[in-house]
Amino acid sequence: MSISQLARSIPDSATLRLNEEARLLRERGEPVIHLGIGEPKNKTPINAVLSSAAILSLGDIKYTPTDGIPSLKKAIIRYTEENYDRLVGPENVIVSVGAKQSLFNVLFTLVNPQDEVIILAPYWLSYPQMVRMVNGLPVIVTPEDGTFRPRMQDIEHAVSGYTKAIILNSPNNPSGLVFDEAFIAEIVDFCEKRDIYLVMDDIYHKLVFDGLKVPIAYAYTRQDIENTKVIVVNGVSKLYGMTGFRIGWTIAGRKLVEVMTNVQSQTTSGPSVVTQAAAEGALLGLQSVVDNLCLTIQNNRDVIMQEMAGFNGVRTCRPEGTFYCMADFRAYTANSVELSEFLLKKALVVTIPGLEFGAEGHLRLSFAGSIKNITEGTARMKWAVDPTSPNEIYIGDRRLVRDWL
Ligand code: PMP
Repeated sequence: MSISQLARSIPDSATLRLNEEARLLRERGEPVIHLGIGEPKNKTPINAVLSSAAILSLGDIKYTPTDGIPSLKKAIIRYTEENYDRLVGPENVIVSVGAKQSLFNVLFTLVNPQDEVIILAPYWLSYPQMVRMVNGLPVIVTPEDGTFRPRMQDIEHAVSGYTKAIILNSPNNPSGLVFDEAFIAEIVDFCEKRDIYLVMDDIYHKLVFDGLKVPIAYAYTRQDIENTKVIVVNGVSKLYGMTGFRIGWTIAGRKLVEVMTNVQSQTTSGPSVVTQAAAEGALLGLQSVVDNLCLTIQNNRDVIMQEMAGFNGVRTCRPEGTFYCMADFRAYTANSVELSEFLLKKALVVTIPGLEFGAEGHLRLSFAGSIKNITEGTARMKWAVDPTSPNEIYIGDRRLVRDWL
């Protein structure tokens, strides 16, 4: 068998792999607790269900325009105006199969072989792999001060003549932090002066807590949509808990959208009309769905922070948005992959190793699940890593034995 070097070098997604492992364990009847999951538990918003059902019932499901159906694009334009205070036209919008494909299209469109793309650690694990898939070089910038807040001086230091783009994700997966206004203003200005694209991965932009407002990159550019270096990626996956519908979009200048549309036309074509209709329903429907989701997740955040505070020697960064937090386990071990495997095997708790996000020694914990999941999962983790805890416990009639840390 002959497999290309590039394809061979791309690892599978750790989160999807762990999801699969957890699914198999659950299928075998194991009482697995999932603190790895990247999706909220809510039901699909009713408007999304109704509008996709209406399309399905017509029984006429055919190809769609490559860049998205006009009515969804219209809803996205309205969303952009309401939430970003930016008026864009249909020629500035392309709909794709999830924000994942949107980001891939953006990178495919911008990056020449050996161009560099700056990624800020801790980062969403797909960014470096996507950059490599388009033959670019990921340049990882880790804040020198050991926090999870990026600093302009570290970024400026990493920029070279080959830097094509910087990817920014705030609220951030995995840290849960929201980057402040001063930083966003500074980076927009820097990118526009230096002719570097700023790719804003805004997939969590409304999932914020305590009434916090996420600074909008567009607010700090004086350029119009055709000339700004700011590119915005968003979607319905996290906002409405519609991960399975696979709808994301990109807002950019018309030339970029045109090229991305060509790329998409030669790969996947336009997303299914059924799921585009669902996304349209969600965008035009009652937005209290998002507020309720935020409140539930904020409450979950409070619970997980309380549980983690009682965890000896573990420091957990307090999330301001998303449904993830990063817990620093270096007091126990520096090897997050080993720790995560240990927790899955011994305590039947799924966590994601920080190594995958450029933050070794940490675990990413998701609080998107139920309160019971959070309290039981963290309790089992404490039991598993604490050398003074009893050697075995029972979950129902399942006996768990710890014998490593
Ligand atoms: N960006 C980030 C930061 C994410 O966490 C995710 C999903 N985990 C995506 C993009 C992709 O979202 P989608 O499901 O719309 O492809």
